[in-house]
Amino acid sequence: MLTKIKCPKCNTEGTFSLSDPVYEGPYRCWKCRELFRIRMEHNVLKSCEPIDPAAMAKLEEIQAMKDKFRRGGA
Ligand SMILES: [Zn+2]
Repeated sequence: MLTKIKCPKCNTEGTFSLSDPVYEGPYRCWKCRELFRIRMEHNVLKSCEPIDPAAMAKLEEIQAMKDKFRRGGA
């Protein structure tokens, strides 16, 4: 499913691919390269906050950990 997100910083609309109706995680604007942590629910942007690359790395780490647990079938 493709959805559109408008960058709060430069107002550029980007297309974002979602695998779940609810998504919480990183988004990077293709134009200004700004990083955001977003929450999407059924094509509606619920929250969007800018994050720095260090926070992003941490977020990706947590996400990878979650994926690992999911695959483990706990
Ligand atoms: Zn932007």
